[in-house]
Formats: sequence, C-alpha cells, structure tokens
Amino acid sequence: MNLKGGCACKAVRYQLTADPLIVHACHCRDCQRITGSAFVLNMWIERRFVETGPTLPKSFKVKAGSGKPHEVFFCGKCATYVWSKYHAVPSDSLFVRAGTLDDPTAIKPDVHIYTRTKLPWLDLPKDVPAFRTFYKIKDVWPVERQERLRRNTSA
Ligand SMILES: [Zn+2]
Ligand SMILES: [Zn+2]
Repeated sequence: MNLKGGCACKAVRYQLTADPLIVHACHCRDCQRITGSAFVLNMWIERRFVETGPTLPKSFKVKAGSGKPHEVFFCGKCATYVWSKYHAVPSDSLFVRAGTLDDPTAIKPDVHIYTRTKLPWLDLPKDVPAFRTFYKIKDVWPVERQERLRRNTSA
C-alpha cells in the first residue's frame, strides 16, 4: 500500500510509507465531538512512516480518557483534522484520520473501540472485533504487527 492524503485545502499533504499497524473505528465521545460525526477512523502507524510535505499541521492538547494528553493535529489554514498523538501510547505513533485519504476505500476498520458510547442507530458488522472500551494488543493484533511495534519502540 502507498496511501496518500491531506487536508481539504491541500496545504497539508502526507504519504504513508508502510501499511498501518491497525485501523481503529473509535466511538468515544471525544472522537465524536472532534470529528462532529458518529465515530472516527484512525490508522495507527509509526511516526517514521508518515512522510509530510513542507507544511506541518498545528496542534492542540485535550485530556484523553487515559488521563494523559491527546494531541490533535490540524491544518493551520483550513482546520481539517489530519492525525492525533496519544501520549498514553508507548512508541512514537500517530493516528492518521482515514477520512483524509485520497482514496478512503483503501482501508477498513480492523476493530471497533469504545462502543459503550456508540450511537444506538449504528449496527456494527458481526465479523469485526468490537470492544466496549480498549483492548489488549496481544489479543487482537497479528504477531508480526506486535513485533513491528516493539521493534520501532525500542529503536
Ligand atoms: Zn488545509
Ligand atoms: Zn476516540
């Protein structure tokens, strides 16, 4: 995969030079509020695999459910949210908004999280794992993805 995307005004552009580790559909209240929608699609990927153009997004911090900062990055011109960094997550990872991809059909959620605040009219597919809050990585991720995260955390 060679996923590319960016904000609405095209000032912020990015390219993912590896597949995402995992794709989350997050139904938590923060994600609903920040996106103005029912849930967000986040591609979890190591920072080193997110190549950016000359214009970097701006950011602000909110307090995540973990109590640690959740830093939200957005285009300084058009304010499109492009990715997040969760300071509770060990490793230098970003959570890139899949809705900003040039071709969002390229990915689909691997797991649904924080479904305790999922909107009641939304029915989730039966064949995709779903959790009321978060999950344990070792229960959900393929072993090679766990090893990739470990490798990039210790490097
Ligand atoms: Zn923009
Ligand atoms: Zn969320």
